[in-house]
Amino acid sequence: MTLNSTAPFALEKAPLERFVAPDKPSLVGLSRAALAEKLAEVGVPERSRRMRAQQIWHWLYARGAQDFERMTSVSKELRAQLAGHFTLARPDVVAEQVSADGTRKWLLQLPGEHPGEKPHLVETVYIPETDRGTLCISSQVGCTLTCSFCHTGTQKLVRNLTAQEIVAQVMIARDALNEWPTAERPLNDGERELTNIVFMGMGEPLYNLDNVAEAIDTIADGDGISIGRRRITVSTAGVAPRIKELGERTGAMLAISLHATNDELRNQLVPLNKKYNLEELFAAIKSYPSLGNAKRVTFEYVMLKGVNDTLPEARALVKLLAGVPAKINLIPFNPWPGTDYECSDWRTIEQFAEVLNRAGYSSPIRTPRGRDILAACGQLRSESVKVRASERAKAEAAQ
Ligand code: SAH
Repeated sequence: MTLNSTAPFALEKAPLERFVAPDKPSLVGLSRAALAEKLAEVGVPERSRRMRAQQIWHWLYARGAQDFERMTSVSKELRAQLAGHFTLARPDVVAEQVSADGTRKWLLQLPGEHPGEKPHLVETVYIPETDRGTLCISSQVGCTLTCSFCHTGTQKLVRNLTAQEIVAQVMIARDALNEWPTAERPLNDGERELTNIVFMGMGEPLYNLDNVAEAIDTIADGDGISIGRRRITVSTAGVAPRIKELGERTGAMLAISLHATNDELRNQLVPLNKKYNLEELFAAIKSYPSLGNAKRVTFEYVMLKGVNDTLPEARALVKLLAGVPAKINLIPFNPWPGTDYECSDWRTIEQFAEVLNRAGYSSPIRTPRGRDILAACGQLRSESVKVRASERAKAEAAQ
């Protein structure tokens, strides 16, 4: 695979001190309750545990501390004790790529589930836009769903990410964007780059709902990372029985990967549809808590040439969404090595969008971002990037 030579590229090896001794777990990404438990483990007495947990929480998530020594409101003694048992390490960033359009992709290395198992790789993508910056995060290594047009589904290895690993993706982005608040630059100064989170990276978030919900509690916490629930969107391929629960537990925004307007075609594109068909899916969507004009469901529809892109299908889409407060995102298909699908012609996409526009859905076409670094929707598949990174390292060494 060749690298796009026009894209600025940086390969970053994690500095040695970032490597975590296996016997020293990291506190990064823990929930409040889990943090208090860790303090109990090292003997912090119960009466002061809440207060200590609160102090450490603030350093972790409001200040982005990477070193216990920075935690000046915590006693020296406790700081030393913490440093003896824990680290503040983030997962190792084994590669960072920056697209010509400013999109950034980080390849993270996570430990295997069992001792001796090879480490896993997972990807996080940051997409800057004029009025916001969206971080696209992963909820699983790989994905068990085999949507026929999605690259991630071709990756074999699958495991759920822990809540810690989900939160850590956001922290790594804040580190890289240098956005931890300081006295001079408070959190809500209106100039933040990273403002929104979408669970649209690798994996099916509703198959890992416990960890996703715990991570959202941490990310949305006002004394901390503080990205509000209305700015967090969870996308699902349609795990109908867990949709309402997602809303009740997280208060997040809902996105549905729809891609077809009838069961026959959707069965082919999103095989999960054979389990939960459109009727069941829409019954679940309608039960999502507090839907209304301010809280619409986003419907993602990938534009596949000659497959789902005719005007009657655009009209069928409008009909299908009647009665659901909705936004539509037409996603031009992003090709990946080995796929037989092609992206619809631009003119076809525009005509399709025009039908939706006339029905009251404004600007539904999503501009592809980060295609040159395989960071666009459906292109995430860490193995291929690993090869790219190592090829790159070899090429650099050879120079
Ligand atoms: N499993 C969840 C979360 C992943 S979201 C879900 O399916 O919603 C990833 C989004 O990118 C989904 O809408 C997916 O359908 C879309 N996608 C996948 N492959 C794509 C491709 N090659 N081009 C464009 N979009 C794609």
